[in-house]
Amino acid sequence: MRLDSRFNLEANGHRIALDTSGSHCDSCFVSHAHADHTGALRSRKNKIIASEETVALAGRSADRISSLEFDGTKAELLPSGHMLGARQLRVECGGESFTYTGDFKLEKSLTAEKAEVCETDVLMIEGTFGDPAYEFPEREEVYDAISFFIKKNYEAGSIVLLGGYALGKAQELVAITNRLCGLKPVVSERIGRACRVYSDFGVKLDAAVMGTPEAEELMESNFVAVMPFHEVNYANAVAISRRFRRSVYSAIATGWAKSMRFPVDVAFPLSDHADFKDILGYVEAARPKTVYCCHGNEGTLSAELRKRGFNAAPADGKGVQLSLGTW
Ligand SMILES: [Zn+2]
Repeated sequence: MRLDSRFNLEANGHRIALDTSGSHCDSCFVSHAHADHTGALRSRKNKIIASEETVALAGRSADRISSLEFDGTKAELLPSGHMLGARQLRVECGGESFTYTGDFKLEKSLTAEKAEVCETDVLMIEGTFGDPAYEFPEREEVYDAISFFIKKNYEAGSIVLLGGYALGKAQELVAITNRLCGLKPVVSERIGRACRVYSDFGVKLDAAVMGTPEAEELMESNFVAVMPFHEVNYANAVAISRRFRRSVYSAIATGWAKSMRFPVDVAFPLSDHADFKDILGYVEAARPKTVYCCHGNEGTLSAELRKRGFNAAPADGKGVQLSLGTW
């Protein structure tokens, strides 16, 4: 088993792309349905290694899903906790093991299970928040803060706008609105489509899609709306306030709330990624001989891991190089 210079995995001569379109690969692993990971699904060429949920959320047919056994090698998909259907890839070959996390989080959420951690010889791990500056509060605490914000403003007769990534975070915001506040939010068509896929796979969500008679009726009074991240800002809040002649309160949910300012009333640090302490916790539990860091903050995370005694390097072809030969 080895990683090639583009960080594709080669096992017994079978080459697997890891969240890239992998034009020269035999199959492509797609860890989850976010657009920056689904190039292989859009390219319509290779066999796909992915969960059914991921393929459904990406709006593709399941007939390209490959078997997990190839050329005498067995792959396994493990939950990654990032969103519905998000998986890690684990491959065992010749007595060695390799694990690629994709985007992951260790906590269970209202809409996704938590990541499973197994011991592995080589670990390729995402480092989106792989900097000690990122430490998120407990998820339950953030849920309490968001549901308090929704209830307080809704009960006062205001419109509440909640923003998050249309896939994953928006569905979690719908679940908070349903289960913790007892309310049905209005959602955009794209968010509504993803809510239906979540419900089809057993995560029941209740929302009214804008433009339908049900949503129109909800919007005759004060209401809660879950909208794509970029549509929740002061300018839209003012426009909605003028249109409906009500006060409007806006919030977004993102891990970047820890380091960035947004044009909303409140930014809640609710992330679908592990924070630094959870990334470290994962690496310590997995006990890898070698770690490659990818997907943002690779340099910082690999330096922090090396400080703690791990054999770590960024998977960006730059910086510290480990041997990329057969392990
Ligand atoms: Zn993602």
